[in-house]
Amino acid sequence: MRLILMGPPGAGKGTQAKVVAEHFGVPAISTGDIFRANVAGRTELGQEAQRYMDAGEYVPDEITNAMVRDRVNLPDAEPGFLLDGYPRTLAQVDELDDMLAELGTKLDAAVSLAADQDELVKRLLKRAEVEGRTDDTEEVIRRRQEVYNEQTAPLIKVYDERGLLVEVDGIGEVDTVTQRIFDALETQD
Ligand code: ADP
Repeated sequence: MRLILMGPPGAGKGTQAKVVAEHFGVPAISTGDIFRANVAGRTELGQEAQRYMDAGEYVPDEITNAMVRDRVNLPDAEPGFLLDGYPRTLAQVDELDDMLAELGTKLDAAVSLAADQDELVKRLLKRAEVEGRTDDTEEVIRRRQEVYNEQTAPLIKVYDERGLLVEVDGIGEVDTVTQRIFDALETQD
């Protein structure tokens, strides 16, 4: 199973990614988590990524692409993977296409979690109190939404045209949304 999971900031990608990946027995690869681990570990990659993340901007494609390429080539990703938060730009879509071609495989589906953006700002501000992510201030959240709308929302159409899009309503209890994802994947032709 090879899936990508898309959605605006706060739509619950990370939470759903873990459950869905476990269900299919594949690793959940979250670019946001990998960047945050590098920031915490003060690696060179982390230091480079942090200034973009703290501003709500995307990390440059070259950096992100190289990181994902390394990750999907690890042995645990051979049976499949779920990409959480990648691709996020059209250039990343092209790069992922290349990676998949090199691996001699293809995507099974692109799941898009949909949610009202004002609702998401509320969610993220609540999460900020719990997790203390430095990019969860209202100003940065709004910027992340703008960047998503400009750069990532167009990917929905790309995957729709390829017949891979699975759209799921992301508002509701975690379990409810998970069940919607499974149902939608099952009925996907
Ligand atoms: P969210 O979707 O809630 O904003 P993520 O944890 O997925 O959070 O990502 C956090 C940040 O990491 C992004 O705002 C961005 O700076 C960086 N990032 C994650 N994935 C990518 C990507 N595919 N391309 C560029 N930057 C990324």
